[in-house]
Amino acid sequence: MPLYEYICEHCGTAFEHWVRSAASQEAIACPQCQSVEVSKQFSTFGVKGGASANSSVSSGDNCTTGGG
Ligand SMILES: [Zn+2]
Repeated sequence: MPLYEYICEHCGTAFEHWVRSAASQEAIACPQCQSVEVSKQFSTFGVKGGASANSSVSSGDNCTTGGG
C-alpha cells in the first residue's frame, strides 16, 4: 500500500495516510482539527517546511518522531 502525506490547510498539520486504492474516494480528515481541507503531498521523509530542500545537515542532533 502506498503511503501518502497530507498537509492540513487549516492548521498546517502534516500527517500520513495509507491509500488502498486510487479509486477509493474516501474523505481525508486532519487528525488534529478534523478538517477536510487537506492537500496531498509527495511521499517524503524528514521534510519540514522550507521552499528549497537544499540545506546543510546539522550534526550532533537526534531527531525523534512521535509524541503526539
Ligand atoms: Zn488541521
